[in-house]
This record gives sequence, C-alpha cells and structure tokens, in this order.
Amino acid sequence: MQTKMGTNNIDLSFDWPAVADTVTGVVLSTLPDDVRSGYAEQPFDLIVIGGGTAGIPAAIFAADRGARVAVVEKAPVLGGTLYLSGGLMAAAGTVFQKAMGIEDSADSHYDDIMRISNETSDPTLARLWAELGGPAVNWLADNGFNIRDEHPVTTTGYDPYSVKRYQSGPEDGVSILKVIMPLLEQHVQAGRVTVLTQAAVVELTQGPDGAVTGVVVEDGDSTRSDIAGSNVLLATGGCAANDEMFQELHGLPLYRHAGYPFSQGDGLSLGVAAGGYLRGADNYVGYYGSVAVNEQIPSEPLVTMSIDPKVRIPWEVFVNIHGERFLREDHPSVNTRDRVMDQQPLHRFWAIFDQRILDEAPPLIPEWSQEQLADAFDTHPMFARAASLKELAVTAGIDPDGVERSIGDFNAAIEQGANDPLDRTHRPLPVSTAPFYAIRSQAWTLKSYAGLAVDENLQVISKSGEPIGNLYAAGEVLGAATSGKSHTGGGSVTPALAFGRLLGERIIQF
Ligand SMILES: Cc1cc2nc3c(=O)[nH]c(=O)nc-3n(C[C@H](O)[C@H](O)[C@H](O)COP(=O)(O)OP(=O)(O)OC[C@H]3O[C@@H](n4cnc5c(N)ncnc54)[C@H](O)[C@@H]3O)c2cc1C
Repeated sequence: MQTKMGTNNIDLSFDWPAVADTVTGVVLSTLPDDVRSGYAEQPFDLIVIGGGTAGIPAAIFAADRGARVAVVEKAPVLGGTLYLSGGLMAAAGTVFQKAMGIEDSADSHYDDIMRISNETSDPTLARLWAELGGPAVNWLADNGFNIRDEHPVTTTGYDPYSVKRYQSGPEDGVSILKVIMPLLEQHVQAGRVTVLTQAAVVELTQGPDGAVTGVVVEDGDSTRSDIAGSNVLLATGGCAANDEMFQELHGLPLYRHAGYPFSQGDGLSLGVAAGGYLRGADNYVGYYGSVAVNEQIPSEPLVTMSIDPKVRIPWEVFVNIHGERFLREDHPSVNTRDRVMDQQPLHRFWAIFDQRILDEAPPLIPEWSQEQLADAFDTHPMFARAASLKELAVTAGIDPDGVERSIGDFNAAIEQGANDPLDRTHRPLPVSTAPFYAIRSQAWTLKSYAGLAVDENLQVISKSGEPIGNLYAAGEVLGAATSGKSHTGGGSVTPALAFGRLLGERIIQF
C-alpha cells in the first residue's frame, strides 16, 4: 500500500482555528533524554494514535478511569477532521430530542441505519452506533454542547431518518472540538495525559506472540523514538488525502482532496502490518452535482448543480459518456441516485437541456448569476453550448449518436403522452429548442471507505478472525463500516466519538 508516514511530506499551510491551541502538546525530540527513555521503558496504559474525533474521547474517558495515557499526534495540534467536518451526528435518545418531545430508541435508529444503507452497514457496528450515539451526544450536551436552533432534523439532504435525530452545532465540527478539547486539557494539566504533537507513528512494536507492545514515533526532524504501551488505539482517520492509497484500495481515483491533509491512511498501513486486514472498499458512494475546475485528478470544485429533486426537481436530462440515460432523474432517493451514478464510466454525467428549459426552469446553478453561467458556456471546458444536439455532444465529449437517441426517446415519449422510458414523472418540457447545453458533473468524496476489520470489542482482527493483542481501532480507520454503501447521515462522526468513548470508558482494561 502506498503510504506517506512521517510528517515531512504534509502540507502544513492548513488554517487551524483558535480552538487548536487549547490542548498543550509537546514535541518529543525537545524533551530531555531521561524523559524520552522513560516513555520507552515504562509502558503507558494506553497510547492513542491520532488526536481527532475518536482519539480525544478515548483519551478523556481512559484518563477519567485513572489510566496513564499518551496521545500521539502527527499534526502540530489536536483536532483532526473535526476542523473541516460538518459535525452532523445522528443519535437516538438525546436531550435535544427530549426537549422537543421526540420519542426515539436505539432499535428505531438501528432499523433506519439498515434501511437507509440498504442493509450494507456492518450490523454489529451499526448496533453499537445506535446504542451509544445518544449517550455520546448527551455527554457532549452535559459539557456545554448545543445544537443549531432548527435541529434536530430528519435530514439535511441525504435520505431521511424516520424521526428527528440528526444535528450539528452552530460551528459544525468545531462546536464539538470546543467541548472536548478543554476536557482533555484538564487531564493534561493533571498529568494523566501526555500529548505529543508533530509525532507520527510509523511502526507498531509487537511481542513474540504478535501482541502490540508500543509504537515507534517519528518527529518532524525525523528523530525516531520508542514509546511503550499496554494498549494501543489506532484513531488515525482514513486516507481521504492520499490519492495513491485511495485509488489502490478503492479501484477508482480520489477525484477531489476534501479530507484533512493528515488523513494519509497511516493507521490502515499500521494495522495491516500488525496482522490486520482491510474490508469494505466496495462501500464507496460518490457525491454528485459538483462541477470540477479542470480535468486534473484530484481537482477542485468550481460550482454545484442543484440536482436533488427535494430541493429543485430536475428539468434536464442526464446522460453518461455514451450518451445514454441511466437514471430516473427525479428519483427521490439520494442513495438510489448516487448508487446508479457510481456505475457510470469515469463517475461523471452531463445534464443536457435547451434554451426553453434555461429560460423557464428555476436556475440549475442557484449560486451563479445569468452572466456567470453565460460566461462559463463561453469559456469553461465542463460547459458546452451548440446549435444542434450532435454538435453539443461532440463539444462536450459524449457519444453523439447516444445523445441523439436518448433525447429523441425522451422527447418522443412526451409528445406521444407515453410513459418516460425510465419512468420519470417530471417532464415539463422536451429538449428541442436550440441552442442546446451540457454541463458535466464529476463525482467526489470527503472520506475513505476501506477500513480495518475489528470484532465487537473494536479490537483489530486478522483474516482468520483472531484479535491482535492490545490493538484497537475507532473512527474512519474502520472505513465506512457504520454507514455502509450509502450516505447514512452522521455515520462517521457519531460512531467515531461514541466508539472512542466506549473504548476509553469500558472496553480497554488497565
Ligand atoms: C468536509 C468534511 C465534512 C464531513 N462532514 C461530516 C458530517 O457532517 N457527519 C459525519 O458523520 N461525518 C462527516 N465527515 C467525516 C467525519 O468528519 C470523519 O470521518 C471523522 O471526523 C474522522 O474521525 P477520526 O477520529 O477517524 O479521524 P480524525 O478526526 O481525522 O483524527 C485522526 C487524527 O490522527 C492523526 N494522525 C494521522 N496519522 C497519524 C500518525 N501516523 N501518527 C499520529 N497521528 C496521526 C491526524 O493528524 C488526525 O489528527 C466529514 C468529513 C469531511 C472531510
């Protein structure tokens, strides 16, 4: 597997908000030799690799129980993906639900996870999420976390939950950090937690029986040191910032860098090297509607088309590179639409329309003025305009015969009052008045999907199902096991927090 462990190759220009400074970390190579050799000789009760969404609660709860904990963090500060994340959490039985008189249960949440994910979530981990999500959110609330006025909701765009159990704080993921960072700092000040920053774990040390005995850490100046630990938690996040690894594991390109720059997949490599294995790469589901700045991979987003029928019902026709329609454009389910889009070559599609649709439909790109759109059709490679459908297809790079056939069939069904070939119901206009237009959408993702296999105690397991002694994992290093092959709202942040908490509070024995 392609991995970039160590800190030397990471873009450190990331703009961390002020909350990043609230936990006191030290750089290992600046410590006196006797302190460093003490770390190598006297095992910590728990070494948490990665001080992010899952790692911080694990450290807090382990320290609450009196454990001596080291948090080893590759970045200059703790916080991880929560700096970028929407921080949307789905949880049953929260104080926020109670305040609104909403009845909910872990069973109902579990049923929803399995329904929304089309039974692709790992049942054991989904059950843990459903049971522990509520207590985790209530723990945040007990410590001052609050949610947006309009939350909880059933959805903010994905396929909805059956009750309102989905929420975020007013500052997205940062609202969570503002609650958990001070709790960790109390333990740092009390001497129960040692935080090492700019410290990348590059290796796990193992005893003769394979049980993990500690970690090897590389500092920013490439100094390597051993740290001994009776238990080690991999909480390093996924590989959403490592395009080589993402492609190798998922079999498709990382079309956009939306992940935290330190999400390089180190924990995946460390876990596999220690005897674990990866699963769930086929849980990949792309996000659609975004238009890329250019042909590069990874690229950056230029703008987003409004293609969710719940927000703006499509007037356009969607085709793939062969010019084929592949989807009932007004299908109400995000997951159904995205799973079909995922099957299309190069994970892209074109929205095709004509002058009448442009004039009469609500804007396809709401954030743009008419002038911006007109300019894009003059200048941008993802936007095409032409006097005929054939010319449009050639300009856009789509098969012209396919486009003529698909649009011909779409129009003929409208003219004849017949059903749409793909059962679409919203067909206010045919695509028949020149000039014709095409806009290309490219899939993207903000997380990775392949992850380490664990048992019901979140202990990393080998292919034969044997737990690897003293080695646990939580967060995106487990891939998308909890959300499955779908956008199951809150399916990453909530389990990361809840599983980290569970490990620190109950599972890991000191
Ligand atoms: C833009 C964006 C929006 C999102 N919105 C949502 C949302 O609303 N709801 C949701 O459920 N999910 C969302 N997600 C996904 C979710 O935020 C992440 O899956 C989750 O926060 C990951 O938590 P984690 O603890 O696994 O990793 P992180 O929080 O990333 O923590 C991992 C830490 O490990 C450190 N690390 C990495 N390698 C090493 C190493 N070798 N040694 C030491 N330290 C290391 C990293 O620097 C990092 O601090 C979003 C993701 C993105 C990018």
